[in-house]
Amino acid sequence: MPAQSYSPVEMITKLVSFDTTSRDSNLPLINFVAEYLRGHGIASTLIYDDSRQKANLYATVGPEDVPGIVLSGHTDVVPVDGQPWVTDPFRVVEKDGRLYGRGTTDMKSFSAVALSLVPAFLERKLKTPIHFALSYDEEVGCLGAPRMIAQLEKLGVKPRIVIVGEPTDMTVVNAHKGVRSFRTSLTGLEQHSSATHLGVNAVMYACEIVHFLGQLAEEWKATHSRPESGFEPPHTTIHVGTIQGGTAQNIIPRHCAFTWEYRLIPGDDGEEIRRRFDAFVAEKILPRMRAVWPEASVETAARAAVPPLVPESGSSAEALCKALARTNEVGVVSYGTEAGQFQEVGISTVVCGPGNIDQAHKPNEFIELAQVKKCEEFLRRLLNEVCAV
Ligand SMILES: [Zn+2]
Repeated sequence: MPAQSYSPVEMITKLVSFDTTSRDSNLPLINFVAEYLRGHGIASTLIYDDSRQKANLYATVGPEDVPGIVLSGHTDVVPVDGQPWVTDPFRVVEKDGRLYGRGTTDMKSFSAVALSLVPAFLERKLKTPIHFALSYDEEVGCLGAPRMIAQLEKLGVKPRIVIVGEPTDMTVVNAHKGVRSFRTSLTGLEQHSSATHLGVNAVMYACEIVHFLGQLAEEWKATHSRPESGFEPPHTTIHVGTIQGGTAQNIIPRHCAFTWEYRLIPGDDGEEIRRRFDAFVAEKILPRMRAVWPEASVETAARAAVPPLVPESGSSAEALCKALARTNEVGVVSYGTEAGQFQEVGISTVVCGPGNIDQAHKPNEFIELAQVKKCEEFLRRLLNEVCAV
């Protein structure tokens, strides 16, 4: 493909046109980006998932042997199912100074603006490289980025700074909560519902555990609140999201399963929550279930594990982005991102991207054109004031 050029809005339109809902392949988008970069003489490394239907893309503009600045964005979007969209979610519509479409805010615009500037990056001889790191499956538990990060470590690539372009209104965010999620399933023993002394009721035992999680949540709120953290709410939260169990009113249910999570303030010990949970199950639940039916069980499987972004006041990422965003402020957000995963391997990382999280995941998601412009200015400053000097 010959070198093609796109304005920021054209590139946003292009990336949004690929339906990259997390459950589906993101390869059409990834292949488009790889082709576009190849047209500009830039090679991409694709890091696939096990199904080979999804891939991360990593590419470097500028010298390969110098630690650079990573521009990180996830390519997947949340589903539009059941949402009352006024326009086609995968065709960007511009109206009243906004671009409407799934992923305009969360978070294709950051990556699109950066990609549209590739010709500008190439025109200047970069002394510090810019790395593109595009991931899959962020929206379903930040599952894609760890493979890319592991691959970079294997290749001995150690970037200096990572900017994760999740929507922050182009303000600098140096901390977010971590997320751990689990699925707990109980197996009891069926009986006629009149014979409660002979059965093991999985639903009722599950409800005791859920009740315990509620008490634990209240306890952490009372004992671990940190108003100075800036988080809203200013404490680690615990939540049960789904529960299923039982088959009929007059059968003691054999099975019940529920999904739950905690969202951790940086510095809180999440393992403590898991230990308390396991101890409650081992001491208060299982012995009673097994007194009736020795094969009764409670099993908990870990699902997503997203580390928190720990604030590092004055870090190189924070200082760089404050300068580029022309601000002295830093903030925190309560949602999880891939930033904590990059930080975990020792790279200075912040979150800073266009759009407002209030628009994310909703029908008629949009981004203000003013935010697109701000993002472009930010990245041009990165080019002119950092990478090309
Ligand atoms: Zn996102």
